[in-house]
Parts: sequence; C-alpha cells; structure tokens
Amino acid sequence: MLDNAPQLPPEISRRRTFAIISHPDAGKTTLTEKFLLYGGAIQMAGQVRAKGEARRTRSDFMKMEQDRGISVSASAMSFDYHTPEREFRFNLVDTPGHSDFSEDTYRTLTAVDAAVMVIDGAKGVESQTQKLFEVCRLRDLPILTFCNKMDRESRDTFEIIDEIQENLAIDVTPASWPIGRGRDFVGCYDLLRDRLELMDRADRNKISESIAIEGLDDPKLAEHVPAELLDTFLEEIEMARELLPAMDHKAFLEGTLTPIWFGSAINSFGVQELMSGIAEFGPEPQPQSASPRQVSADEKKVAGFVFKVQANMDPKHRDRVAFVRLASGHFQRGMKLTHVRSKKPMAISNPVLFLAADRELAEEAWAGDIIGIPNHGQLRIGDALTEGEALKFTGIPSFAPELLQTVRAGDPMKAKHLEKALMQFAEEGAAKVFKPSIASGFIVGVVGALQFEVLASRIELEYGLPVRFEPSQFTSARWVHGTEEAVDKLVNANKQHIAHDNDGDVVFLTRLQWDIDRVVRDYPDVTLSNTKEMM
Ligand code: GDP
Repeated sequence: MLDNAPQLPPEISRRRTFAIISHPDAGKTTLTEKFLLYGGAIQMAGQVRAKGEARRTRSDFMKMEQDRGISVSASAMSFDYHTPEREFRFNLVDTPGHSDFSEDTYRTLTAVDAAVMVIDGAKGVESQTQKLFEVCRLRDLPILTFCNKMDRESRDTFEIIDEIQENLAIDVTPASWPIGRGRDFVGCYDLLRDRLELMDRADRNKISESIAIEGLDDPKLAEHVPAELLDTFLEEIEMARELLPAMDHKAFLEGTLTPIWFGSAINSFGVQELMSGIAEFGPEPQPQSASPRQVSADEKKVAGFVFKVQANMDPKHRDRVAFVRLASGHFQRGMKLTHVRSKKPMAISNPVLFLAADRELAEEAWAGDIIGIPNHGQLRIGDALTEGEALKFTGIPSFAPELLQTVRAGDPMKAKHLEKALMQFAEEGAAKVFKPSIASGFIVGVVGALQFEVLASRIELEYGLPVRFEPSQFTSARWVHGTEEAVDKLVNANKQHIAHDNDGDVVFLTRLQWDIDRVVRDYPDVTLSNTKEMM
C-alpha cells in the first residue's frame, strides 16, 4: 500500500473487492472459474458453470439467459487467496456482460474498489469493454488488465498495448511479457519478479512452471526459451522497458495507469500472477462517498448500502436478496441495524455470503465484503444500513430509460397483480415503471430492448401472469426537479405528459424533443433530467 495511507485493521486491509469487466466471449467466466480454483473455493474448474446450469434449468427465464449466452443477473462471490506472506479475502462482484443490462452493471461498479479488465488478445479493446471502462473512469477505479487467449493467434504485443493507451486514454505498464505467439506461445516473463513462467499445454489445470531468473543476461533464459524466440523476446523486453512506463502504484490507484498481464485463462496460465497483482496492488477497501460525510473502512460502526436487489432467486420462496456492500465496521450476524430510509431497526438474522456457487450463512463480515440480505421488499437499491447514523450514500445513478412501452395484463381482472409485479421489478432496478396521471395502465421503461422480453417472461413465470407489451405514444422520460410550486405549475398545465415513477417522483413523458425544449423555455424554475440519484 502507499506509504502515507492510514493503516487499516488487518481483517479489512486483506480484503479485495473487485469486478471483472469485459466484452462477451473474452473469457470472463473462464477466468472466474480459475480464480475460484486457485482460491480453493472449488475442487475443479468447470464447476461454477456446471452448478450454475443445474440451477438455471429451473426456470425458462434462466433458460433464455443460457440460450442467448448472456448473463442477466449479477452476483457476488467470496474466496481466499494465499501468497507466501499473507492470506487475502477476495470478493468478486459479477457484472452482467450484455449491453442491455448496462444500468445494473453501472451500479455494480459502485460497490467495488477495483476492476479487472479482460481483453481477447486477438480482438483487443471491444465495444462493451470500452463502455464499461468509461464507467470505471467516472469513478477513477484502479484497473488491472488481463490479455487473454494468448495460446491462440494474437496481435502484436505493442499493438495491443498501444490500442489500450489510445482508445482508453490510460497508461499501460507490462507486468508480464509474452514469449512467442499463438502456437509458439511458451509462456511469459514476469517483469515484476524476474521470473520465467512456462505454460504446460498438456494439463490445463496445472500451475505453470516458474523459474527464477537473475536479469535478462542470465544463461538460464537460453535453457528454457526456444532459441528461435529468444532474440525477439530480448529485443521486445528492451523496447518495452524503454518505451513504456514502469509500475507506479500511485498512478495505478488513481486509475491513470494499468498493469497488464498476458495469459490464457483456459490453460490456467497467467491467472496466479494476476491474482498476486490484485493482492499486492489492491486497493484495500476504500472510503465510500456519502452525505453528510464520507465513510471510511476503518470506522468501528457498521454502515453499508444496497447496490443490487435480486428478486425471486428461488421462485418457490418469493424471496428477495439485497446485495449490500459494507462500507465500514465489523458486522456480526443477528446485529440490529437502522434502515435509514424508513428509520426502522432491522435485525439482520440470516445474512448470506456467496462462497463460489453456494450461499452460506454469514456469521460475520467486514468493511469491503458483500453480503446478501433476504427480505420481503423493505430493502431497495440505494438504501443505507447503519448503526443509527442518518447516512445517505451517494453516487448510485439511475438512468432515464431509452425505450418505453405500455404493458397490459392478458386478463384485465389481474391489473392489481400486474401492478405488484411491476413495482417489484422497479425496486429491483430491472425497469422503470411510470403511472400516467390521466391514462390507465402502466408505462415501462428500459435501457435495452431485450429487457422487455425478460420482464414478460419473468412476470409470467414468477406471478403466473401473461402480459403484453405494446408501443407507447411516448419515447422519452425526464425527471422533473424544482420547488413544489414550480413542479405543480408544470404538472397542472401538462397533465397528458405527466406520470409518477415507483417512488412517486414526477416524470415528464414525451415523444418530441420540441416538448422538452418548450418546458425548458416556459418553465425556467424546473429542470428536466435524465438521471436521478437512487441514493
Ligand atoms: P465470457 O463470455 O467472457 O464469460 O467468456 P468465456 O469464459 O465463456 O469464454 C468464451 C470462449 O472462449 C469459451 O469457449 C472459452 O472456452 C474460450 N476461452 C476462454 N479463455 C480462453 C483461452 O485462454 N484460450 C482459448 N483458446 N480459449 C479461451
């Protein structure tokens, strides 16, 4: 850690809470499996997927996820990682990869202290990676980069690094350097530790052979690196050292420099070096912004915030799990915390930790950890839990939906049921639900078109309610802010454009930019906004 950083208690400072960002297919799932394998959380790689599939077959909704090869819901996994000196606790928060679910992903990234960016060595920086990176940049999150699939034909190493530097405007420092490419790829030189890491192609789960090297003129290099690759490798290393910045911990923590490791997740290659990097460079659990004051991880009292709500994880039980990032303190099972929004006490008697693919009762948790709290709907995204202080965590965004549709129950007698289902999905953050002030029915807003299908199939599956989505007369939604008087004036003169969201906040709906411009011109005391802070 930085020399001038205050010392966190050991239980907290050993925690690393991070997410993996990548474009679909770059290897996030494979890398996650290997993390768990080395974390000792599972015996055999492949189990995450296998278990996941066993669970998924339970519902058609999940089947849809499987068919389309997308991951719809985010979850958190905890596992340990040992280095010779220390034992770390990693909390990996899974981000849904498909662009249709970006809002969920944005919120997930408010719960982590760092991100691992996985890129495909042949494809470089792809669109989804770029988008997710930009969200990390908004929060100055430190980024560790893993360039995957080096066992296949990949691009030139300098070209990959250049592309990251150019497209993402971040400095790149090589933590390892690949030797040979594609079929000739033999392994990497670990530039941080002066070791040669050689890949075993015969056994995918075998940890690579690691050889200590005394600098680049060590004759041992020639013993292990095939002669035809050695000269190129030495040239490249020399160039890299000359042209690329060295590792600078401060720049990394500020999010302006990313160390890059090269490897092959499927061959378990380079994964441990990446994990050591996460352990060594961190960061430790960071202070969380809140009002009226920031919360730092070493505070004695427990405080945390809900960044995700997942409903009906088990359709039989109708339960909801609120995912809470602990910002401070030492949480113990059975604790009574204050639910700040309702000012009510809540006994947290059956919190869960997500160890690999299993849920386990969390007897205790520390700042940095993610716990799941089963509840019946009291906990919403953005809610704070504290030991009494009226804290409001800030920075969890809600975005104006880009697509609006009217929803109707197949059976008009079931309108009340539909309302209940919609409210639940709204609280979960899966959609925006607007109740128009004069028309009947509901308007549902989402960020990606696929979400309408997901919602329709979930409402049918979880509530036994067939529904129809139909085009709405509106295409844009804006939240209306201003004094009560100013907002009332707008509302009364524009009833046909007004709706309320599930929190009761006023929303202006329209299909014409012209309408928005008109409001801006005629109602100088209100503002229309396409985001709303959920906290
Ligand atoms: P995700 O969509 O990012 O989660 O990607 P997956 O982990 O599912 O991987 C996508 C595909 O790439 C799968 O077929 C993997 O087996 C394959 N894959 C992952 N890592 C590697 C690797 O290091 N080398 C090669 N050749 N294939 C890989």
